[in-house]
Amino acid sequence: MATITARENVRRLVPYVAGKPIEEVERELGIRDIVKLASNESPLGPSPKALEAARNALENIRMYPEGSCYVLRQELVKHLGVEPEMLMFGNGSDDLIHCLGLAYLDPEDEVVTAAPTFVQYRAAALLAGCTLHEVPLRDYTYDLDALADRFNERTRLVFIANPNNPTGTMNTRAEVERLLDRLPERTLCVLDEAYYEYIDHPDYPQSIDYVRQGRNVAVLRTFSKIYALAGLRVGYGIAAPEVVRAVDQVREPFNVNTVAQYAAAASLQDPEHVARSRKVNEEGKRMFCEAFARLGLSYAPSQANFVFVDLGRDSVEVADALLRRGVIIRSGKIFGTPTCARVTVGLPEENRRFIAALEEVLA
Ligand SMILES: *Cc1c(COP(=O)(O)O)cnc(C)c1O
Repeated sequence: MATITARENVRRLVPYVAGKPIEEVERELGIRDIVKLASNESPLGPSPKALEAARNALENIRMYPEGSCYVLRQELVKHLGVEPEMLMFGNGSDDLIHCLGLAYLDPEDEVVTAAPTFVQYRAAALLAGCTLHEVPLRDYTYDLDALADRFNERTRLVFIANPNNPTGTMNTRAEVERLLDRLPERTLCVLDEAYYEYIDHPDYPQSIDYVRQGRNVAVLRTFSKIYALAGLRVGYGIAAPEVVRAVDQVREPFNVNTVAQYAAAASLQDPEHVARSRKVNEEGKRMFCEAFARLGLSYAPSQANFVFVDLGRDSVEVADALLRRGVIIRSGKIFGTPTCARVTVGLPEENRRFIAALEEVLA
């Protein structure tokens, strides 16, 4: 076969290495009852209302999805109090990050974000062949003043994960507004709020207001985290209608499947389930932080459903040892922080198993 080479910008990309599925690890190691605390998935699972809607939607999968996400859009209009033209939908919010890159980035443009952070921002910039500025975190947190120092007339997109993944740390309203005040005219600031529904902090920005005020802001949210629909792939964005139109021009016509649309719409009808998920998360996070403190490990203050902890030694080794005890966590090595690990909050008994296994491994 002739050598067929992908274009240079593509060759520089590294395929995403996902946390292994439970079934694969069980097969490989011959153990059962594995606890996966590696991909920030919700341990409670989706609302029963979402599952029922998903089952009902299966009846219609013979047909193409509604390309406009009509029902889900109407539900979100009520839920968020925004105009329908301000909403865009993706096959997960990953898809929207990709689409924003396609819509806005030319090779001579520049992208500003932090490191370590969510890897899809980097992928969007590299695919476009742009210059990427990755500003180191300070105290595990996005240093928004340092991000703004990188702004210039070529800056096209700014990606901010708030709270950040993998560290779980949050930027305050004051910090975000100081950055927005320095935003160049042709720059779009993407505020990725994948963990929005978990947050209960008085200084967290109400970023939809920025969109309403006509600032150059796109807010991204997802049904993958607290709504526990990661496997169905549906995320959304809130932005000015012209941003939504630009994404509409580059997205696949049917980028959100029928089952996802109806399950997501139904999950908005179950605030009690969301409240339960938040409560389980808060209790689990407290359990983790107490255990880390007891073990003398430092960790980042988390507003999300995971905690980033410094294990003080090679976290790949610790993760392997935990895996042999049936617990999967995410080593920080891929984030360039080899002694740290990201641990997703699970159910109380899962959290206890993780803590007991960690105590054994570190002893
Ligand atoms: C999990 C996550 C997403 C959401 O991904 P989906 O594609 O919607 O599943 C987006 N941004 C961040 C920072 C995340 O952690």
